[in-house]
Amino acid sequence: MGSPLGWLLIQWFQGSHPEQQLSLHTELYLYLFIGTLLTFACFGWYVGFNEERRKAQSLTDPLTQCFNFRYFHERFAQELQRAKRSGQDLSVMILDIDEFKKVNDTYGHPAGDKVLIDTCQTITENLRSYEILCRVGGEEFAVLTLQSDLPAALDIAHRMRTKIKSKVITLEDQQLSITVSIGVSSYQDGDSIDTMIARADKALYQAKNNGRDCVMPDHVLSQVSIS
Ligand code: GH3
Ligand code: MG
Ligand code: MG
Repeated sequence: MGSPLGWLLIQWFQGSHPEQQLSLHTELYLYLFIGTLLTFACFGWYVGFNEERRKAQSLTDPLTQCFNFRYFHERFAQELQRAKRSGQDLSVMILDIDEFKKVNDTYGHPAGDKVLIDTCQTITENLRSYEILCRVGGEEFAVLTLQSDLPAALDIAHRMRTKIKSKVITLEDQQLSITVSIGVSSYQDGDSIDTMIARADKALYQAKNNGRDCVMPDHVLSQVSIS
């Protein structure tokens, strides 16, 4: 509105009454009004669009296009608050590709990248709406499972492990499949992000020690394992 009103005001100071101005130069004021409106609408859309794109980029892993560690941390904090408030279950699993260094050493780093992308895709294809996948390290992924207690989260982890294992990854002239080890922890009273991740990490460590290609829960570590 500033542009036509400003011009009207300038004309008024110069002795031309607004009513006279408007009737004499209706097209000019319409042009100024609609032009300014369109310019600002386009500018606003452009700024908003770029803002959204930058925000999405800052939360996305550039290689696999899944959420990154930053998103994981932000979302985990929100979901933990929600779990504390509402008493709903919350679990987290850390998936680590087994002997991934060997994949790089055998097939090369670009092939390793392809394995990461395909693995991420396999997990994503099998995610449900309350499961959130993030890449939290080189060959390490985290899945937040909302409203899932430990047995439910273990079922999900088991499902993911078998899906990944059965997926054939095609490289330029070769095929391979990989396995993952998974540590799972579920919310307990007084938990923080750090304590839940520490328990999932410890469970993952146990899964690796257990021979890899298996799922470990965050407690009864020495007794329960699903493979
Ligand atoms: P483990 O079963 O104990 O997990 O063995 P590992 O070989 O998977 O674990 P390690 O930590 O020894 O090796 C991880 C490797 O992942 C080493 C690193 O070069 C590779 N890596 C990390 N990020 C990337 C990436 O973005 N692309 C590729 N191609 N490799 C990566
Ligand atoms: Mg690792
Ligand atoms: Mg590994």
